[in-house]
Amino acid sequence: MTDHAIISADHTKALEELARQLDPAHVHRAEPLAPYTTFRIGGPADLLYNATSADALATAISHARALGVPWFVMGLGANILVADKGFRGIVIRNVANAHAIDPDGRLHAESGAIVRDLVLDSVRQGWSGLEHYVGIPSTVGGALWQNLHFLSPAPERSRTMFISEVFESCEILAEDDARRVVDASYINFGYDDTVFHHTRDIVLRATFKLERADTATLHRILQENLAWRGARHPWLEIHPSAGSIFKKIADVGAGRLVDQCGLKGFRVGDAAISNMHANIMVNLGAATAADVRALISHAQQAVADKFGHMLEPEIAFVGEFDVT
Ligand SMILES: Cc1cc2nc3c(=O)[nH]c(=O)nc-3n(C[C@H](O)[C@H](O)[C@H](O)COP(=O)(O)OP(=O)(O)OC[C@H]3O[C@@H](n4cnc5c(N)ncnc54)[C@H](O)[C@@H]3O)c2cc1C
Repeated sequence: MTDHAIISADHTKALEELARQLDPAHVHRAEPLAPYTTFRIGGPADLLYNATSADALATAISHARALGVPWFVMGLGANILVADKGFRGIVIRNVANAHAIDPDGRLHAESGAIVRDLVLDSVRQGWSGLEHYVGIPSTVGGALWQNLHFLSPAPERSRTMFISEVFESCEILAEDDARRVVDASYINFGYDDTVFHHTRDIVLRATFKLERADTATLHRILQENLAWRGARHPWLEIHPSAGSIFKKIADVGAGRLVDQCGLKGFRVGDAAISNMHANIMVNLGAATAADVRALISHAQQAVADKFGHMLEPEIAFVGEFDVT
């Protein structure tokens, strides 16, 4: 028996043991991941588990850790590229979405709560703080992982606003498997960066502090933000994407450099650089992860040759990629 065969046999045994420990109603085997991502790209996960509560999320991770099964927590899949070969291990899809707003404006949410739902609930109840993030596909966990941001407020749009501005605390499952409540100093919020990029801590729940505001004004801001986005970004329902592909380069703009290389509309297979926004790659129908990786490499090379900048991907790569 080869080493590979031994690893495979152990892997399969561990996966089956893990599946036995989870609620069978929420476990899927060999489940294609493309439909769970905004890019609509990605092969199967050995196991996909829908975690319907923060406790179920924590338990699934703890079991996977104990059995040595590779695991990945997925929110709305809006900032990831899943490999064509998929993911060997368990993908835990976070659909734990309970949330409520206290009379003092504290919003408590499980980490799978969808930001759109929180925006609408808070605006309807006359609470301000989340309306800047309308139209951005995200769970609370993804938003904290990335320090969700948007050029706001209207009409000036003179600064980037961050979700950290309304964040108060969150409960995490730490790398040592302990649950603890942490504040902003622990999260170390940066631009597209937090502690979650550098550890395997996972957000279970979060609390945000909102401010009283006039509901009619908030509704107007929602409309303005959606109109602003709609005029500048490809529409997700028509052009699946993962949002911005490359990290911001201070005072330069990654998209501007790609644009100045004449790459808007450039295609590899069915993956294309958007004609509307050069830092967004879109799936024209049947794009593969390999197409996107090749397009990323092409844009990086073109920008490096012309401007001497090495563009860094902002999205997370999930699963088994061939080394390129
Ligand atoms: C059309 C479009 C527009 C976008 N516009 C913007 C924008 O204006 N501003 C902006 O900031 N972003 C934008 N994005 C990017 C994306 O929306 C954000 O990164 C979002 O926060 C991703 O959330 P998610 O739930 O989909 O996370 P996923 O994509 O599912 O996961 C992303 C990463 O977060 C980790 N993660 C997920 N949940 C947790 C958790 N509970 N605890 C710890 N880590 C976790 C995952 O493991 C993964 O590494 C856009 C994306 C798209 C597709």
